[in-house]
Amino acid sequence: MLINFDAGPAALPKEVLQQASEAILNYNNSGLSILEIPHRGKLFEAILEEANTLALELLGLDKNDYQAVWMQGGGRLQFSMIPMNFLAVNETAGYIESGHWASEALKNGKLYGNTNVLGSSKADNFQYIPQWGDTPEDLSYLHFTSNNTIYGTQFHSFPETEVPLIVDMSSELYSRKLDYSKFSLIYAVAQKNIGPAGVTLIVIRKSLLEKQKRVLPEILSYRDMAKNNSVLNTPPVFPIYCSLLTLRWIKAIGMDAMQQSNEEKARLLYDAIDESKLFYGVAKKEDRSMMNACFRTHDDKHTEMFLDFAKERDIVGIKGHRSVGGFRASMYNAISVEDVQRLVSVIKEYENTVN
Ligand code: PMP
Repeated sequence: MLINFDAGPAALPKEVLQQASEAILNYNNSGLSILEIPHRGKLFEAILEEANTLALELLGLDKNDYQAVWMQGGGRLQFSMIPMNFLAVNETAGYIESGHWASEALKNGKLYGNTNVLGSSKADNFQYIPQWGDTPEDLSYLHFTSNNTIYGTQFHSFPETEVPLIVDMSSELYSRKLDYSKFSLIYAVAQKNIGPAGVTLIVIRKSLLEKQKRVLPEILSYRDMAKNNSVLNTPPVFPIYCSLLTLRWIKAIGMDAMQQSNEEKARLLYDAIDESKLFYGVAKKEDRSMMNACFRTHDDKHTEMFLDFAKERDIVGIKGHRSVGGFRASMYNAISVEDVQRLVSVIKEYENTVN
């Protein structure tokens, strides 16, 4: 098998793929495929219940205060649903612009009310996490992207404010232990660290659900989606089931061990990049992401050559995003320490070959 460092849809744990494929043929000896079970029946009810419970438990959040909601429409729908639900025309929302996805979220905010950009690193092609300064108290919310998939930067500290924090954690959720109760709404597309594409997990503080600012169709309302426990309409049953399998896999490993493994992987790769004479890291060191490592060579002729060299050694998905160039290795939870050791040895082998 290939080692897949793609940024998403990304590698999933082998056990999850195995269990998911068995469930396609015969879900839990029910005699039905997981693809055929009714979304309002007992089988799916149990899947959803456990997925909701684990989604909060692994973040250390209390189900009296928070609710997990599963939606379609990807990260993009969240960019528009957030201001649609929580920003009235005459109000202002804060945004920290730390990458392309943060800019897209901001663009959508502007459609519904006023926006205040508390910090931006756009002028420097998002090579670092911008400073954000003081947060005005009258903001409806403050939105940021905790891990910038394209640029390989990550927030290592967070705004301290009473303003509700809304955070896009798509490319990092369940990779590190944090005090998640700082946040009022956390969202993450599944296709990076949780499951297959087709579902987005939203973890929302119950008190925020009451703050809807305008009349909305039920399908675009967090309050109504939460009230209907994610089954207002037919939910993506299979992606939710796969996400449950991943959450169980994470629980069995434990969040402490998960974080340690992610730290070890990032250390291995960044050390190799920093020691290299050929490759260099793109993001500012203090803001480096534990999940997505972006690196380049001084001479662009190596880009295609190294991609081919790596592919011949079963390593794929490391082409950098077109706006950054070079390489990007995404080391989500399903990538093991051994996988990263393999990448590091291929980097070293390439360097020895060309020198
Ligand atoms: N947020 C982040 C941090 C992302 O990396 C991405 C996609 N790569 C998105 C949002 C957009 O997700 P989608 O394609 O599901 O709309």
